[in-house]
Amino acid sequence: MHEYSIVSSLIDRAEAEAKKVGATSIANLTVRIGDQSGVDARLLSIAWETFRERTLCAGARLDIERVPAVWKCPRCGAAPAPGGPLRCFPCNQPARLVAGDELVLAHLELEVPDHV
Ligand SMILES: [Zn+2]
Repeated sequence: MHEYSIVSSLIDRAEAEAKKVGATSIANLTVRIGDQSGVDARLLSIAWETFRERTLCAGARLDIERVPAVWKCPRCGAAPAPGGPLRCFPCNQPARLVAGDELVLAHLELEVPDHV
């Protein structure tokens, strides 16, 4: 499952960041997932529960933000009518996806001991 490798690389990234600043644990991770990214948020949560054990993320909360897809005409920049074909009729161009295919680690909340 593709979500498992995503979660394992998210945890790797988070742990690398935590080690850099001497954090002892990670409190919260916010991930932004585009509607067109092909990532299933539910599977991602399941993978998260499986992988975070015995990592710095063991007690961390995973927040998932969905990013809606945004399509635009590459020539005039007009957005196609919602629910209609992904095409700009005046320009006779297929619309291009300009947002909604991302998978981003948007926010990371680390717990750093005071005496560091
Ligand atoms: Zn157009």
